[in-house]
Amino acid sequence: MSQPYGRVYNFSAGPSTLPVEVLEQARDELLNYRGAGMSVMEMSHRAEPFETIIAEAERDLRQLLGVPADYKVLFLQGGATLQFSMVPLSFLPQGRTAAYVVTGTWGSKAREAAEMVGAVNCLYDAKATKYDRAPALQDLQIPADVAYLHFTSNETVQGVDFQTDPELPVPNVCDMSSNILSRPVDVGRYDLIYAGAQKNMGPAGACVVILSPRMLELAPEQTHPMLDYRLQVEHGSMYNTPPCYSIYMCGLVYRHLLKHGGLEAMAARNCEKARLLYDAIDGSGGFYTGHAQPGSRSFMNVTFRLPSEELTSQFVKEAAAEGFDGLKGHRSVGGCRASIYNAFPVEGCGELAGFMKQFAGKNG
Ligand SMILES: *Cc1c(COP(=O)(O)O)cnc(C)c1O
Repeated sequence: MSQPYGRVYNFSAGPSTLPVEVLEQARDELLNYRGAGMSVMEMSHRAEPFETIIAEAERDLRQLLGVPADYKVLFLQGGATLQFSMVPLSFLPQGRTAAYVVTGTWGSKAREAAEMVGAVNCLYDAKATKYDRAPALQDLQIPADVAYLHFTSNETVQGVDFQTDPELPVPNVCDMSSNILSRPVDVGRYDLIYAGAQKNMGPAGACVVILSPRMLELAPEQTHPMLDYRLQVEHGSMYNTPPCYSIYMCGLVYRHLLKHGGLEAMAARNCEKARLLYDAIDGSGGFYTGHAQPGSRSFMNVTFRLPSEELTSQFVKEAAAEGFDGLKGHRSVGGCRASIYNAFPVEGCGELAGFMKQFAGKNG
């Protein structure tokens, strides 16, 4: 295994691996950004170079995702977790009910935050099956008068993915933190998408929010400034100092993705990567078992179990010694998790599959 700069195969769930080309460019621009005489970390967010950085990041993100022209794009702070609160504070008025579809840890946290704001109707919760599946959203009985429906396109902890865009009769809000930009999506079918940067876009700090015009219409006229979508839109994400360096890095990643074939190419690569690992699980004669049901398997977070706790610890330890870093599953689920976001190399999945086979052969 020879990775550039002595880097390991980094399976971290987030913050997570970034493209080497992007890190190299950031390194080259670190001390003097394109002749500005300073680093992006050191410049005013009101100065010309940064105005261009954020404008180009937005432009490239719009192009990648095919964001409709009348949708707004924001780069906020507070992570996806602040959106858990900001969404109901803005869109769940008294007397209304919000619908939540819970397919894992993050959706559950989002619902809890909404319950502190107002009435929540939990239409679906897969807790009884340990969050191993996602429902077909259009098959749920959705009351026509809900304020919005919230769901999590990919549950990072359990490795559960909806795999399709929703077609819903009510405004919908999607936490896309861990699979945004991993495949093409029809943004026009969503009313509010949010995603923390640190899974598939860049370093932690920025949270992308994409808003439909009808959703923005529903936002209150006035609320606390930092929680005010309208104000954030009016100020172009710069009501206060934005997470400048994170936005700059996201911009480099967007450019990198466009250069390498956009989201169609990413989807093909991500399918290939996930297939390598799921094949290793399914072909192990039961030594490894996948956590998610086959129809709900994540392309980003591959969760699986070994026959015992002892073997799991041994697997994680031996894998780490071979340069496969971060395979221990989330403490709430146990087992193992291989997070294979966009920037994770195909070869790394092939090599892990080989290691899994070898380990099962020795210990099965
Ligand atoms: C990581 C993650 C979050 C939390 O993100 P923060 O930026 O830490 O607030 C929320 N939802 C999903 C799906 C995630 O993967």
